[in-house]
Amino acid sequence: TSKNVKDPYPDWKPGEPVPYAALCTTFSLIELTTKRLIIMEHCSLFLRQVLRLTPDDLLSTVLLMINKLAPDYAGVELGIGESLIMKAIGETTGRSLAVIKQDQKEIGDLGLVAVKSRSTQPTMFKPKALTIRGVHKGLMGIATVSGNGAQARKVSEIKKLLSAADANSTGGRVDVTKDKGGPSEAKYLVRFLEGKLRLGLAERTVLVSLAQAMIAHEAAKKGTVPTTSEIEKAESILKIVYSELPSYDVIIPAMVEHGIMNLREHCKLRPGVPLKPMLAKPTKAITEVLDRFEGQTFTCEYKYDGERAQIHYVAKDADEELSQSMPAGAATTTEAGRGVAAIFSRNSEDLSKKYPDVLAKLNTWVDEDTKSFVLDCESVAWDVVEKKVLPFQQLMTRKKKDVKVEDVKVKVCVFAFDLLYLNGEAVVEKSLRERRELLRKSFKPVEGEFSFATSMDGQELDEIQTFLDESVKASCEGLMVKMLDGTESGYEPSKRSRNWLKIKKDYLSGIGDSLDLVVLGAYHGKGKRTSVYGAFLLACYNPSTDSYETVCNIGTGFSEAVLEELHSQLSQIVIDRPKPFYAHSSGGQHQPDVWFEPRFVWEVKTADLTLSPRYKAGMKEGVDPAGDKGISLRFPRFIKVRDDKKPDEATTSRQVAEMYKKQESVAKNKGPAVDDDF
Ligand code: ATP
Repeated sequence: TSKNVKDPYPDWKPGEPVPYAALCTTFSLIELTTKRLIIMEHCSLFLRQVLRLTPDDLLSTVLLMINKLAPDYAGVELGIGESLIMKAIGETTGRSLAVIKQDQKEIGDLGLVAVKSRSTQPTMFKPKALTIRGVHKGLMGIATVSGNGAQARKVSEIKKLLSAADANSTGGRVDVTKDKGGPSEAKYLVRFLEGKLRLGLAERTVLVSLAQAMIAHEAAKKGTVPTTSEIEKAESILKIVYSELPSYDVIIPAMVEHGIMNLREHCKLRPGVPLKPMLAKPTKAITEVLDRFEGQTFTCEYKYDGERAQIHYVAKDADEELSQSMPAGAATTTEAGRGVAAIFSRNSEDLSKKYPDVLAKLNTWVDEDTKSFVLDCESVAWDVVEKKVLPFQQLMTRKKKDVKVEDVKVKVCVFAFDLLYLNGEAVVEKSLRERRELLRKSFKPVEGEFSFATSMDGQELDEIQTFLDESVKASCEGLMVKMLDGTESGYEPSKRSRNWLKIKKDYLSGIGDSLDLVVLGAYHGKGKRTSVYGAFLLACYNPSTDSYETVCNIGTGFSEAVLEELHSQLSQIVIDRPKPFYAHSSGGQHQPDVWFEPRFVWEVKTADLTLSPRYKAGMKEGVDPAGDKGISLRFPRFIKVRDDKKPDEATTSRQVAEMYKKQESVAKNKGPAVDDDF
């Protein structure tokens, strides 16, 4: 035990299910600090205790820490909003919904509202104390309720959990956070239900803490302590393993069984578990690309404007173990083919039900000898008559779920640009040149259905310029330029890498890249637009404070039809007041008319970036020497809704600050930028 943190919960006994109160005590300790190292210590100490006393609960503990119930591709969602939670709190504590709403207005944190409500609750009998596995099971129950009366049943499940919360209020806990509601179970339960624990505990921190806990636990069993280099090795192993196989459900049992140092042999990239895709860095000019790759070979590819599609496949006659790793939904979607397949989105959602037409034809482009693979592709809307790529907007009109092959109106063509796994073996560490050769050898293009991304290996500026022009004529967004040889050209899951650069066609007029921003609020429309919202307040995401920082108001780029659609989507997630994790300007005239739950991400273009006292983006990134201005977008323009991004995958404050700084150095001689947004 380190000197900074104390054993948080001395009362739990070996082999017993981990008391949920123990986890909440650790949460409350984490809530007291903003220092990442201390947070990590609390976290790894707790995980070590779990490993020592009740290793069977390690998986559910980690999941509750990262506010998830299952891996993303499993599609498990709680499906409840603020109003259902308020209803459940009211009914559990015998307070009226009106009172709960009023409290929420004043306190702004439903977790604390639950704590406050509890103190007035009569304690007639003592329910059994909550355990981590019990809470996980209960929450899973809420997520899987469907059909008639689902909402009511969800409320009753939430009530069960809430009425058992804080049942054993003795338990040896230290009440260190009185002002923050204490280590209350109700508080963290409710925050979990809301989807935000608000501890400043990033998923990455939990991953590193888990590695530290495991290595310390293994050493303790041998009566030693791990060396710094062993700790670093353990952290690096777990990071690599998780990036190739992002599923704690698979990793944790393997780690406990085989030890962390042997984890890479047991947990490898495999079909069925989508990996987080490799991403690209934006550039502003071809010369910047040439500077970056100086002295190394690179390749240019068209940047198709569609939807990322990671295609996983296992032939029926492949290794049995492999077939079993495919998700359940996949098995039914490709009965026509020689195997089972699934398609995953950029953020690991299972899209198999959206693309049954692609899956049904898959066997026509797969060689008989190809028994298993993972392909990285872009699925793009396809004009069957003109035989060419269609704009992204066409793709958006496709239905998202339960698509029937015979109903498909917008055909898609899949453009493959990378191969990550082939015939039982991960190939991510091979060079791009080798992966590309394997890709072209093992698959065959079928017009309008499957194609290799168009590429060009010329290294000269004018060749690249010509290729960029051609890509634009072919309805692409621009180019991707990728390192071709050597270890740096390996596929780096989940990284926004310097080895992949993107050049967008409109890089000359804008800031090089569009931004993906979260809609926090809206203003009622005027004139012709009175029945819809006329403008919106957008924010970027700051992962280190887990908050949304406002960056602009936007009212341009919307058609009337789009405004209507947005109004019907957004009016369902209106909340009474801004969430406490919204960083926004509180001056009266800058308040939007309505606030929303943080749910939708929009792609937005801008002319350039400027500093403004009205917005908060990047304030902590040191862009404004006086420290009272944030970065804001000038002349922002709506491009599209990014269904494939969650709010915490929006452009980050740091990225906004980087864009601002880059532009500043470019425009050094132009004098200070001025704030003249509407
Ligand atoms: P955006 O799609 O807005 O550019 P992003 O953050 O989703 O941003 P980036 O890393 O910026 O992703 O760009 C890479 C995206 O471009 C990939 O996710 C993929 O969907 C798409 N893409 C199209 N063609 C290619 C290609 N040839 N190679 C890699 N990615 C491609």
